[in-house]
Amino acid sequence: AVELSGIRKTFGSESVLKGIDLSIRPGEFLSLVGSSGCGKSTLLRVIAGLETPDQGKVTIGGSDVTGMDPSSRNLAMVFQSYALYPHMSVRQNIATPLRMRRLPASARLPLVGGLMAPRAKLAGISAAVEDAAETLQIGHLLDRKPAQLSGGQRQRVALARALVRSPAAFLMDEPLSNLDAKLRAHMREELAALHRRLGATFIYVTHDQIEAMTMSDRIALMSEGRIEQLGTPDELYRRPATLTVARFIGMPA
Ligand code: ATP
Ligand code: MG
Repeated sequence: AVELSGIRKTFGSESVLKGIDLSIRPGEFLSLVGSSGCGKSTLLRVIAGLETPDQGKVTIGGSDVTGMDPSSRNLAMVFQSYALYPHMSVRQNIATPLRMRRLPASARLPLVGGLMAPRAKLAGISAAVEDAAETLQIGHLLDRKPAQLSGGQRQRVALARALVRSPAAFLMDEPLSNLDAKLRAHMREELAALHRRLGATFIYVTHDQIEAMTMSDRIALMSEGRIEQLGTPDELYRRPATLTVARFIGMPA
């Protein structure tokens, strides 16, 4: 589980997170929603370790990671802009997180004298890359460059690169917002299917209430640095706690 308690963050004189308590269950698809500037991305960055909270605690899988750097958290972050390396092939892009590690995550591989033999390490990376690419249905695109892909295919490469590390949780910040409406609807289905297949924890920031309502186990609706309501899509729909929630859900108030 990912647990946040009493998270506060100030930028200059602006208090952006005003005491966030949130417990995200293992395997849960949790969406963070709310109007522009309410602190969604900042909260996600605090979870990722890209921002340090002024106060409060972040625990992942029971260990306190507050103040620890991002690379020690085993989380995968997927942004709105895919940030693929343009000069590298799809295969190399997906492999990057594993190449940067001393040892591959894959515990299936035999260890030689406690250390991975270089060839076994390379074979392990290549197998893990192919697995991730198969899962995202881009196995046939591994030798292309990002410029030769569609937006949806690029998004899948970014997801495969996240997947290849077997992260404890996926953190996604509006990953579909650069796609056109039709592709977004399609990728929404794919993300939901991926979540079911992996059984992994997804923390998903979106502006789009259809995405939040259709994909989430629970939705946390933020307003001005606080969580206004936390509940299942059905609970938010049937019993919006405030006018802001009712407006987000799109009900006449
Ligand atoms: P959006 O939906 O537009 O992406 P958001 O909910 O993700 O908005 P944040 O990016 O978390 O909002 O920003 C919350 C507030 O904090 C904004 O007022 C923003 O200007 C401010 N902010 C975010 N990052 C910084 C920073 N590094 N320095 C100063 N202010 C910042
Ligand atoms: Mg944002």
